[in-house]
Amino acid sequence: MAEAYFTEQHELIRKLARDFAEKELTREVLGQVEETEEFPQEILDKMAKAGFFGIKIPKELGGQGADARSYVLVMEEIARVSGVASIYVSSPNSLSGGPLLLAGNDRQKAKYLTPVVKGEKKLAFALTEPGAGSDAGSVATVAKREGDHYILNGRKCFITMAPLSDYAVIFAKTDVTRCNKGLSAFVVDMHAPGVSCGKPENKMGIIGCATSDIIMDNAAVPEEDRLGEEGEASKSPCRP
Ligand SMILES: Cc1cc2nc3c(=O)[nH]c(=O)nc-3n(C[C@H](O)[C@H](O)[C@H](O)COP(=O)(O)OP(=O)(O)OC[C@H]3O[C@@H](n4cnc5c(N)ncnc54)[C@H](O)[C@@H]3O)c2cc1C
Repeated sequence: MAEAYFTEQHELIRKLARDFAEKELTREVLGQVEETEEFPQEILDKMAKAGFFGIKIPKELGGQGADARSYVLVMEEIARVSGVASIYVSSPNSLSGGPLLLAGNDRQKAKYLTPVVKGEKKLAFALTEPGAGSDAGSVATVAKREGDHYILNGRKCFITMAPLSDYAVIFAKTDVTRCNKGLSAFVVDMHAPGVSCGKPENKMGIIGCATSDIIMDNAAVPEEDRLGEEGEASKSPCRP
């Protein structure tokens, strides 16, 4: 007989997420989110306590150490009731937590990922720019090395959660002559001098998780906050 696609453990996770979504993400709460454009911190705290921000993050980093299937099940159940609530789950597990998991060293993971998994901090992912969407190799944000720091200048756009975040994974060119191969990634403190956010976008959906530009104006980022090696942030070949 074929092996079951979902194990008993998966079914328990599905039930936990479904029960959570139906109990906590009520019509009343979601109506209030649409009206105020803010997602209640109290619910985010409960989501963190339920382990939703670290489903597939290893246990030693504060996560649940579950598999991708478990993550998808939780996403399905939360998104079934609230799209915006699911963004708060996908970001630490995937978009913003992913680069740290893939390329962060132990110090970076403990400093930046564990507090996000615990719901104590928020992390954004900032790649897109007005001239670099699908074509990420066209990023124009520059990171210039100065001693043990990099000086970042540029503008990111459409960054989910930017105005709410404590940190952002920001992609910048350390070598402008090498398209994708000149891209490096940094964890940037959103409250550091030279880092600011644009006006939140007036969106048609996903209300309750602000999206904005991130502007870097001579923002100094310590070398120790670079993720992986210089110029190694993209594995894609350069476009002809
Ligand atoms: C609500 C929202 C939240 C977002 N959050 C984030 C975030 O947190 N972080 C972040 O970095 N970015 C974020 N983005 C940006 C998103 O990743 C980009 O919008 C996306 O990469 C597409 O880029 P673009 O908008 O510049 O469109 P373009 O790249 O200009 O594409 C426009 C259209 O052209 C098509 N196209 C592009 N290139 C080709 C090609 N070579 N051949 C054929 N067709 C092509 C595309 O499929 C698309 O239909 C967000 C966007 C939105 C709307």
